[in-house]
Amino acid sequence: MAYSYEAPVSQSLFDRASVVTPGGVNSPVRAFRAVGGTPRFMVSGTGPYLTDADGREYVDLVCSWGPMILGHSHPEVIAAVQEAVSRGTSFGTPGEGEVALAEEIVARIEPVEQVRLVSSGTEATMSAIRLARGFTGRAKVVKFAGCYHGHVDALLAAAGSGLATFGLPDTPGVTGATAGDTVVLPYNDLDAVRAAFAAHPGEIACVITEASPGNMGVVPPADGFNAGLKELCAANGALYISDEVMTGFRTSKAGWYGVDGVRPDLMTFGKVMGGGFPAAAFGGRGDVMAHLAPAGPVYQAGTLSGNPVATAAGLAQLRLLDDAAYAKIDAVSAELRSLVGDALTKEGVAHTVSAASNMFSVFFTDEPVRDYEDAKKQDVFRFTAFFHAMLEQGVYLPPSAFESWFVSTVHDERAVERIAAALPAAARAAAEATA
Ligand code: PLP
Repeated sequence: MAYSYEAPVSQSLFDRASVVTPGGVNSPVRAFRAVGGTPRFMVSGTGPYLTDADGREYVDLVCSWGPMILGHSHPEVIAAVQEAVSRGTSFGTPGEGEVALAEEIVARIEPVEQVRLVSSGTEATMSAIRLARGFTGRAKVVKFAGCYHGHVDALLAAAGSGLATFGLPDTPGVTGATAGDTVVLPYNDLDAVRAAFAAHPGEIACVITEASPGNMGVVPPADGFNAGLKELCAANGALYISDEVMTGFRTSKAGWYGVDGVRPDLMTFGKVMGGGFPAAAFGGRGDVMAHLAPAGPVYQAGTLSGNPVATAAGLAQLRLLDDAAYAKIDAVSAELRSLVGDALTKEGVAHTVSAASNMFSVFFTDEPVRDYEDAKKQDVFRFTAFFHAMLEQGVYLPPSAFESWFVSTVHDERAVERIAAALPAAARAAAEATA
């Protein structure tokens, strides 16, 4: 499909990028392969808006895939960054900023007794799994199809499989031996988890799950699912790892833990806690974290871990995220969900607006979506048409039907009105789309 409104400056930047970078991007989904067309190269962001290299402004519903929960260029975050930068950018020693950020995380999330800072969500989940294996002396890891935990070798196994099975690598470069210790199960299926524990007695180190998945579209845990996971882990001597890289500090002040109260053994964080910089973390039970070097034998390290600029940004952002901020995000999310749902209903488009707190996405099906297999049954071609109609009208959605939409505290009335104005044509495009 050709899109006549494509931006010439973005196109020429993409051409240049494609010469020097595989696929022209530094993270695959940015390339627009799922929806076609030219990825927009952004040059600036202010509040809820992004401006691309062709000078077009968009209402941003991606928010850098979650981190920009206060909108772009928030003055207090920028000031904290400028102050930190003025003192130097990296020391390779401990510093007060990282202590303060760790204290903020521990204060907000009760199951986190100790926390280790890293630079990406991938590092956080990779390290949490190593620690779980080191702590339990076991090898196998259970994950769920459709849950993404970063590009950790062991967690890229059979993400598309809907059956309880040994993992097979999803990508060349991950060996069968690595993936072979990963058991991939269908999401929201406690019986499958029970069966896995029965099939591998004394072998499973941990179960890792997105606290509430947002990487197959938004598919919240069924009532009792997370509590059931915790119970099964405890009964079988495995650790329950809740990946809150996406939900952490977004779905409530204490992330998804603040929503369902199920107490994980280990948790992982990223995105919001970095304030738009590379900062992430894993933490949890003190007796488990005590196994981490230099306190214990499980090695983990990072040249830029706890970077003073990143921690200053993250701390400034977290300190601004009070109850009023979450109330605002929840309200704008609810308003957008109802606007999107109404527009699609009006055009007779089969859809489900799926929400987990203020995270939401639209499935182009009216069948219930409980797992990845259900999510894949939607009419993706309708999303593609919807996406491009929104983009053309200046609304930047995630360029995939399997991603969460994100809003911020500064998606105000004007931004919502612009989205509302774009929806009728986009819903019509979705209705008229053909496979
Ligand atoms: N875990 C979850 C739930 C995520 O959504 C992501 C990224 O989207 C990651 C882990 C990986 O984080 P990063 O991209 O910072 O490595």
